[in-house]
Amino acid sequence: MELKFSTKCIYGNKAKLNGEPTGTISFPIYQTATYAHPEVGKSTGFDYSRLQNPTRQQLEKVVASLENGIDALAFSSGMAAITALMEIFRPGDHLITDADLYGGSIRLFNNISEKNGIEFSHINCSKEDVESYVRDNTKAIFIETPTNPMMNVVDIRKMSEIAKRHKLILIVDNTFLSPYFQNPLELGADIVVHSGTKFLGGHNDTLAGFVVTNSEEISEKMRFIIKTVGSGLAPIDCWLILRGIKTLPLRMEKSQENAKAIVEYLFSSDKVNKVYYPGIEGSEGYEICKNQARGFGSMLTFEVASKELAHHILKATRLIPFAESLGGVETLLTYPVTQTHADVPEDVRIANGITDCVLRMSVGIEDKDDLIADLKYAFDSYDGYKEL
Ligand SMILES: *Cc1c(COP(=O)(O)O)cnc(C)c1O
Repeated sequence: MELKFSTKCIYGNKAKLNGEPTGTISFPIYQTATYAHPEVGKSTGFDYSRLQNPTRQQLEKVVASLENGIDALAFSSGMAAITALMEIFRPGDHLITDADLYGGSIRLFNNISEKNGIEFSHINCSKEDVESYVRDNTKAIFIETPTNPMMNVVDIRKMSEIAKRHKLILIVDNTFLSPYFQNPLELGADIVVHSGTKFLGGHNDTLAGFVVTNSEEISEKMRFIIKTVGSGLAPIDCWLILRGIKTLPLRMEKSQENAKAIVEYLFSSDKVNKVYYPGIEGSEGYEICKNQARGFGSMLTFEVASKELAHHILKATRLIPFAESLGGVETLLTYPVTQTHADVPEDVRIANGITDCVLRMSVGIEDKDDLIADLKYAFDSYDGYKEL
C-alpha cells in the first residue's frame, strides 16, 4: 500500500508498523547502549547503539520514506551529517558548491575540508555556467535551494543533468523547503541533506541532521562512516524528531500562509527596500521554484533602509525573538551578518548581498495578525527613520 505524505509522517511507510508487543502507539525510546546476543553468530540485528538503535532506525525509515530515498541516516546535527558526508571524498577531489550556503557549511568547507585536501569552487549556481567549472578531479556539486539567506533558487534538474554528464554526485541541502515541499532525489539528486533541527523537528528544541540517498553504494559508504565516526543521533532526540515530523504538513502549510501575509506587509512598508522570497510572482526564482517544488516555504529575507533600523527592529519587537535557527513553530528574526554568516569572508558576504541592512525571518505558526502587529510596532517605533 503506497501511503500519502501526511500519513507517512505519522506511520512511516507502513501502518501498524512497529510490531511492538505492548501495542505502544508512540514508538518507544530505546535508551540502551548495547544489546544481548543469544549465542555466537546470532544477533537481534542490533549490536551497539553507535551502529544502530531501534528508535534511530524508525526515524531513519520515516525520513527515507518522506524523501523517497532507499536509506536515510540520522546524525547529531545538520553539521554532523554534512561533516560525515564529506568523508566520502578524498584529498585531491574537487567540489563545486554554491557560494550562498548556510554559514556553517561554508565554515566546514573552508576550514576543515580544505585542510583535508579537498578543493572547492564556490560559485553562484543560479547564475553562473556551472559546467564550465567542472575539472578532471571534480566529484560533486553541493547546493541549497532556496539558498540561505538570499533565497536564490537553483534549478535542481539542470544541476542533475550536468552531474550525470560528468559522473558527479549531486548533493542538495533541502532544509529550507523540507520534504513536504521539495524532493530533490526525484529531480535527479543523489544525496539530500537536512538539518533536522529545523522544519523536521519543528519546535526549536532538538538538534538533528540527515543524509538521505537513493544509491546503494552511497548508503553502504555512509553506514560505514556513521558507525566509525560515531555521530549518530541519540535515542531520545530521535523520538523528539519523530514526534515533530508527525505535524510537519500542518506546520508547513500554516507557516507558509503566514509568510505570504508577512511578505505582503513588508512590500507595503516604505521602510523596506527589498524582499527576498521565492513565492513572489515575477521574481527571479519564482518559475523554477514552482516547477520543482510544491510550495515556497516560510523563510524570507528583507533589506531595510539602514543598519540602525535593522538593529532597532531586532531590539524593538515584543513578540518575535531575535535568535539564530529556523523552521520552528516560533517565528524568529536572524541577523546573518553577525550570526549565521559571521564566519563567511566579508567579500563573499557582500558579493552575496548579505549586508548589515539584511534581516532573515523564519515564519512560525502564530496568528499572522500578531506577527504583523509586532513588526509594525518595531518599524513604527523607530525615531531615526525621519532623518534618513
Ligand atoms: C541549520 C542548517 C544547517 C546546519 O544544521 P545544524 O542542525 O544546525 O547543525 C545546514 N544547512 C542549513 C540550510 C541550515 O539551515
